Amino acid sequence: MRRVHLEVKWQLAWTFLLVYAAAAVCGCKARPAAPATSSLATEAPVTGPFSTQELQQFAALDPIDTHTHVYQSSPELVALLERLNLHILDIVVARDPDQKSLDEERRQVWGFVNVSHGYATMCTTFDPFLYREPSFRNAAIAEIDNDFDHGAAAVKIWKNIGEQVKDPKGRYLMPDDPVFEPIYKEISDRDKTLIAHLADPDSIWEPPTPKSPDYGYYMQHPEWYMYKKPNAPSKAAILVARDHVLERNPKLRVVGAHLGSMEADFKLLADRLDRYPNFAVDIAARMPYIVMLPRTDAIAFIEKYQDRLIYATDHSLAPEAKAQDAVKQWESSYAFDWRFLATSDSLQYRDHQVQGLALPTAVLHKLYHDNALHWIPGVM
Ligand SMILES: [Zn+2]
Repeated sequence: MRRVHLEVKWQLAWTFLLVYAAAAVCGCKARPAAPATSSLATEAPVTGPFSTQELQQFAALDPIDTHTHVYQSSPELVALLERLNLHILDIVVARDPDQKSLDEERRQVWGFVNVSHGYATMCTTFDPFLYREPSFRNAAIAEIDNDFDHGAAAVKIWKNIGEQVKDPKGRYLMPDDPVFEPIYKEISDRDKTLIAHLADPDSIWEPPTPKSPDYGYYMQHPEWYMYKKPNAPSKAAILVARDHVLERNPKLRVVGAHLGSMEADFKLLADRLDRYPNFAVDIAARMPYIVMLPRTDAIAFIEKYQDRLIYATDHSLAPEAKAQDAVKQWESSYAFDWRFLATSDSLQYRDHQVQGLALPTAVLHKLYHDNALHWIPGVM
């Protein structure tokens, strides 16, 4: 289960606000259960897979999910993508400081992309743990160029930059380190996109609270618990370094994964979107933060930034995962997200009853389709 990986488990810990989101990323069985009427699809159940009518409306958006990790050439998943008319970006991530190379992950992602009937596009990466090697820059550029030549649409950098990779003196490598500049330049010169998952939700920098749903996780995985790392950069410092990248590379399109890690502060997010025209964010695994906004605030924010927000989930399919189960979870989560964004259904998670946002169709088209194509050309 290594490939269900830290990122997903960690995000799971933070998505406690929304039971369904946890189900979507961890495979738990919990589902929200709340019968309600649907404004757009009267026969629709509020939980579970799409109804026929809902599916028609969803598929008509030509939906794209720009944040997935599929490492298995699963015919079941291809069938789901075809049935939902859903395109995905399949992202390689350099996760493991001990891994010999990214070759295996690359091969697995290409394997799925190549059997996906055109429904999956590759997002590549490079190994930041090698950043002190003399060959790092040329090797990283050669690797991503090779993937671009074969159809990759973007390059991912991950939170291990800022939170894990260190020099021999224990100083953390930051995303604005000059060592990355030639790579950023190559990405923009090739008219590709940088997908940046930098930093994490706030509470990994805060004291542990046993009541917190993520308490057990960071006790088991102290490597991501920044609060306990004396020399670790603050979250603010990592985001400032991210902002330097945006400033220094105005022609580089950057998509901040997970609401740019500003999920708890929509004013901060708005400020960065206003400040950096080359910046957009995906909503992967951060829907709970949108759901828990006052409904009118959520609608106002999405409508104001309707050109800068990209629908995404962070769904994964590990090499050894049971694809049939995963496919059911994926569909339920797509259905639930769609009901929340597109309908005025009453939806329940945990103790909360919330109402879907019923966003205008034009805005839904942007979230689900237009923005993905604009910010990540070649994604479908
Ligand atoms: Zn991810």
